Amino acid sequence: FVSPLTYFVLLLCFHRMIQSAFVDMESMFELLTEEKEVKDDVNAGDLLFTEGRVDFQNVCFSYTAGKEILSEVSFTVMPGQTVALVGPSGSGKSTIIRLLFRFYDVQGGCILIDGQDISKVKQNSLRSYVGVVPQDTVLFNDNIRENIRYGRISASDQEVEEAAVAADIHHKILSFPDGYDTEVGERGLKLSGGEKQRVAIARTILKSPRIILLDEATSALDSQTERNIQASLAKVCANHTTLVVAHRLSTIIKADQILVLHDGRIAEQGRHEELLAMGGLYAAMWLKQQQTPESEVSTDEQPQEPQQ
Ligand code: ATP
Repeated sequence: FVSPLTYFVLLLCFHRMIQSAFVDMESMFELLTEEKEVKDDVNAGDLLFTEGRVDFQNVCFSYTAGKEILSEVSFTVMPGQTVALVGPSGSGKSTIIRLLFRFYDVQGGCILIDGQDISKVKQNSLRSYVGVVPQDTVLFNDNIRENIRYGRISASDQEVEEAAVAADIHHKILSFPDGYDTEVGERGLKLSGGEKQRVAIARTILKSPRIILLDEATSALDSQTERNIQASLAKVCANHTTLVVAHRLSTIIKADQILVLHDGRIAEQGRHEELLAMGGLYAAMWLKQQQTPESEVSTDEQPQEPQQ
């Protein structure tokens, strides 16, 4: 027997539970709809890759409404050229890389590869031509061989090892307890930042993409590792259209073009010598890095305009 009062209290509790379940569901859907997914157009075709020219035309972009991250950004990377992106932390360098890989769609202007708007082509076909070496490489809980093979699943063991040699990580791998069978990732051997980046380079060598995007690690590497990475990158990037986010200006002296970003706009652009002669933001960043010990160098600090 249940008294009317107990019955009423139970009913009230039940009502509260259902109400809160609905509130939870609502917030879950809000979260899901917040994550804007990039979708292929119904009529999207494959990217017809010819020579690898990249054009940003008046690109505007914000992650959240009202906070513009890129404003009217325009530049061209000619086929096979290397363009470096430099500038203070938060100026939008990595965002440019993410947009070219189409992690997000632009809100104004457009990005073209060989004259085709990348928002109108299939993401899979775009990404088959574009490879990224990110700042932080994710290693899976698997052995190092499979972690490299991830660049091209069909690659043979020999191709995996050749890629590791080219990325200057082969000898390091041979020094691991089980060589290429060594388990890495969260549950296995932990690799250093420089080693992880070389795994990413080996993956990219296997993938052999036509356009390469490099997001240089912010953390300082020792100068020998830095030189090894630069040498292996130079091999991968030769004759490929390359966009590189650089924190150490010494790595991009030879770039065909340097874009200096400031508050989401291109503040200066040109080659290293031209920008130095301009005596503006780039020259100030260069001066500062020359005066800073190698281990502390980063372009991420706000530069001061040099006195004219
Ligand atoms: P760093 O040199 O520190 O890597 P960056 O120049 O590459 O900086 P971005 O990573 O492009 O800068 O970020 C530009 C701005 O966008 C920053 O203000 C950052 O806080 C913001 N931002 C980046 N990613 C997101 C995101 N997923 N959601 C919201 N804001 C973001």
